[in-house]
Amino acid sequence: MTAGRLTVVGLGPGPACWVTPAATTALAEASHILGYDAYVARLTPAPGQAILASGNRVELDRATEALTRASEGRRVALVSGGDPGVFAMAAAVFEAIESGPPGWRALDVRVEPGVTAMLAAASRVGAPLGHDFCAISLSDVLKPWELIARRLKLAAEADFVIALYNPASKARPDQINRAFAILRAVRDAATPVILARAAGRPDEDITITTLGEAHTHAIDMRTLVIVGSSATRALTRQNGAAPWVYTPRFAK
Ligand code: SAH
Repeated sequence: MTAGRLTVVGLGPGPACWVTPAATTALAEASHILGYDAYVARLTPAPGQAILASGNRVELDRATEALTRASEGRRVALVSGGDPGVFAMAAAVFEAIESGPPGWRALDVRVEPGVTAMLAAASRVGAPLGHDFCAISLSDVLKPWELIARRLKLAAEADFVIALYNPASKARPDQINRAFAILRAVRDAATPVILARAAGRPDEDITITTLGEAHTHAIDMRTLVIVGSSATRALTRQNGAAPWVYTPRFAK
């Protein structure tokens, strides 16, 4: 039996050109590729490769299945959108290892990084993450809203640029507006806000607005939101093009 391996692979935010060569190699070497339907749908299997799409949203179950197959001697790739370590599968794998059979701690487990959504979004508008920033997921599936609200307030007070993942879903369409309200209590209404929907995909839609106006726009689960710090500015262009948004590298 060959030694099993589990590689958690980041596929980037969408386009093939944003998948790293190392991720491509890890996929090519896998005998089994596991992942959520929408991610594995982006892949073309090689001959003899098994693709196991799952509609299952419970990430821990998918991690457990991947670890079980790796422990049986398979070469498993577990795919994730963006970077697998950012609000995604890599942490689920280590959670499963921590509470799983002791033998899993001897497995060859690797993580292949990917371009995370906030970097894709930032690159489209300029350099909004040019100075200190933080990332917060607005999903309250795995943590209480009270903790999210507290982190938002403290991040605003600390004057970080804030990248918001999972800003809304069908089950919680209005949380992003509650988040904007918390940030507005601390930060100026003129603060630049970027709404990057489907960054890098054919239906990409990038909106540059302000904290005062952000709530008037449609924001869904395919959107990454960046709220500027007090230093973030929008540079108007001469040719009528959308402004560049950037955060200078210095702070007072
Ligand atoms: N591991 C992923 C994030 C998973 S959380 C990564 O590193 O990007 C899912 C959230 O990521 C979505 O709700 C959305 O906020 C963001 N996201 C993922 N892909 C995106 C894309 N192409 N454009 C904009 N936001 C995206």
